[in-house]
Amino acid sequence: MSSPISRKWEHAVVTGGAGFVGSHLCKALLDAGAAVTCVDDLSTGRPENIAPLLDRPGFTLVQANVAEELPVNRRPDLVLHFASPASPADYLRLPLHTMDTGSAGTRNALTLAHESEARFVLASTSEVYGDPQQNPQDERYWGNVNPVGPRSVYDEAKRFGEALTTAHAETYGTDTCIVRLFNTYGPGMRGHDGRAVPTFVRQALAGEPLTVTGDGRQTRSLCYVDDTVSGILAAAAHGLRGPVNIGNPSEISMLALARLVVALAGSSSEVRYIERPVDDPAVRCPDITLARDKLGWEPRVGAEEGLRRTIDWFRAEAARG
Ligand code: NAD
Repeated sequence: MSSPISRKWEHAVVTGGAGFVGSHLCKALLDAGAAVTCVDDLSTGRPENIAPLLDRPGFTLVQANVAEELPVNRRPDLVLHFASPASPADYLRLPLHTMDTGSAGTRNALTLAHESEARFVLASTSEVYGDPQQNPQDERYWGNVNPVGPRSVYDEAKRFGEALTTAHAETYGTDTCIVRLFNTYGPGMRGHDGRAVPTFVRQALAGEPLTVTGDGRQTRSLCYVDDTVSGILAAAAHGLRGPVNIGNPSEISMLALARLVVALAGSSSEVRYIERPVDDPAVRCPDITLARDKLGWEPRVGAEEGLRRTIDWFRAEAARG
């Protein structure tokens, strides 16, 4: 496999740049020599994620709600639209904000890209596939989404964002790309954001029972954040319009994940089964043939290695208090 293609950017705008994935993107772009403007309302982001970037030359933080405004002074050549609550706990707490960010926020980010003649990348999600009836999911699968279920505020906002992005490209010729990210984990997540990896790691390190939903047989495919970031930047560098799946095709059940986290953390925690959320997908696994063929990208960090790094980070955070 060749290495993923890259491109030199002058100035990237990252909406949602103070979030988990966004902050890793900001850092990677700064490391590659780009100036970066992070636009974030800190609704679900961690200010600590970007604290180490604030003093770096070329980094600017603009605190704004992208659904209302996108105040950027300098013309970008890349707009990465990553603003959106992403964990179920967050989007269930912020349903209308989530829909505004996916609709008006995406529209504002597209307008900025179009007016600046910049490349635009939409952070979409495997959630557009809903509770899939096909496994693994390739980009031609249209999904199985409940439009009025509790998760719909996120799933449908992202599906609308994809339609809007496509319409913008068709109408104005905006240079767009849609990346469908599958579950990503790593340093920078909030221990209480409700997603499986940070929840299990926090519980294992505290010696608390790991709360597995349902019978734990439902599967996810987990991609380490460094791999997700290199896939996103490869898609940005390529002229590809997508949608393109970015994820790790090795599937793991939630029960197996809980046991692996306990073992890697050297914890004595037990598993406690709790109720499974409504419309929780039974399986989730990307077909990444397109990303492999077009972008020369595939994930490199295996689950054990990625979880070890994540556990180390959570342990260091807990020690810092
Ligand atoms: P996150 O909650 O850590 O980050 C989202 C960021 O967006 C936060 O910093 C938040 O404050 C900001 N934000 C939310 N609404 C905003 C608004 N209206 N204006 C300005 N800023 C706003 O989530 P994440 O896991 O880093 O996800 C980032 C993006 O990637 C999201 O668009 C998400 O849908 C997508 N995604 C993530 C995953 C994953 O596994 N992490 C999977 C699929 C898709």
